[in-house]
Amino acid sequence: MSKRDYYDVLGVDKNASKDEIKKAYRKLARKYHPDVNKEADASEKFKEAKEAYEVLSNEQKRAQYDQFGHAGAQDQGFGGFGGGAQDFGGFGDIFDMFFGGGTRRDPNAPRQGNDLQYTMTLGFEEAIFGKETDIRIPKEENCDTCNGSGAKPGTKTKTCTHCNGSGQLNTEQNTPFGRVVNRRVCHHCNGSGKIIPEKCNTCGGTGKVKKHKNIHISIPAGIDEGQQIRVAGKGEPGENGGPPGDLFVVIQIRPHEFFEREGDHIYCELPLTFSQAALGDEVEVPTVHGKVKLKIPAGTQSGKTFRLKGKGAPNVRGYGHGDQHIKVRIVTPTKLTDRQKELLREFNEIEGNESLDEQEDSIFQRFKKAFKGD
Ligand SMILES: [Zn+2]
Ligand SMILES: [Zn+2]
Repeated sequence: MSKRDYYDVLGVDKNASKDEIKKAYRKLARKYHPDVNKEADASEKFKEAKEAYEVLSNEQKRAQYDQFGHAGAQDQGFGGFGGGAQDFGGFGDIFDMFFGGGTRRDPNAPRQGNDLQYTMTLGFEEAIFGKETDIRIPKEENCDTCNGSGAKPGTKTKTCTHCNGSGQLNTEQNTPFGRVVNRRVCHHCNGSGKIIPEKCNTCGGTGKVKKHKNIHISIPAGIDEGQQIRVAGKGEPGENGGPPGDLFVVIQIRPHEFFEREGDHIYCELPLTFSQAALGDEVEVPTVHGKVKLKIPAGTQSGKTFRLKGKGAPNVRGYGHGDQHIKVRIVTPTKLTDRQKELLREFNEIEGNESLDEQEDSIFQRFKKAFKGD
């Protein structure tokens, strides 16, 4: 994206006086300030005007810009917008609002360590009954050799003398608006506020080492896919004595061959032969809590669902158990002996003439009526 000419941005001509430049900028700043103007491009225009003003209001930078254009201004390293926020004296509040107060975080303040995430895959039944387990995760730890200071044992980190430990450098300038303070990250200490004269050999001065850590995890019974277990304080170590972050264990569950789970309820299919369904039977049904006897009443239809109360997964918050739902599926035989065929043919003759046609509202009757004439 090519940059617009700074004079065009402010709408002044090349010979504009300092006063004209200041006036033009104030007008634009009021118009496009994001707290006032909610249009999508307002903050871009505001930044653009601010940048143009920063250059054209400074005699030296303006001369550079007039001679070399944007490249000349950039080479001065006055920072654009990433580095320093500015304080324009009485007019400064507008900038403070925009740049979040204009102060950088104190690099020596305690900071909480980063959170870590770990994905754990459980078997279907492990998730239902929970378990105690250890996981081994790679994580950053404070270096044991230097206790996290980054300094070689026997030596000490020093406060950066360039920024007095603040991690930022201020430069002051006089402008038409009064004193301008430019803040930028101290390049002597990279913003840490500290200098390490002799670096620790183990961690190379970072104070951190990658380690594999065993962490004990208690998985509560009834945990479900996608749920997280928070292990407080097992994330990365904090900075400057701040507390460590947390570890989040995200649960995935392997699918089961027969069971499906929805919340606390478990679903499965029960294959039955035609004769079992027609005559009724008592069958053994698997549940995660062991086998359960189930009475199949005579005349059970395919698709009928039975419910075994309390045979589902325990609720992870301790509110009892879900149920197991068993859906009947009648399996049509595909391999028949001659004797079976003979019996079925005989059955079919009797069935066709008597039992089904006698039931006026049977599914077969309704089906026949619906498609009559086709
Ligand atoms: Zn420094
Ligand atoms: Zn170290």
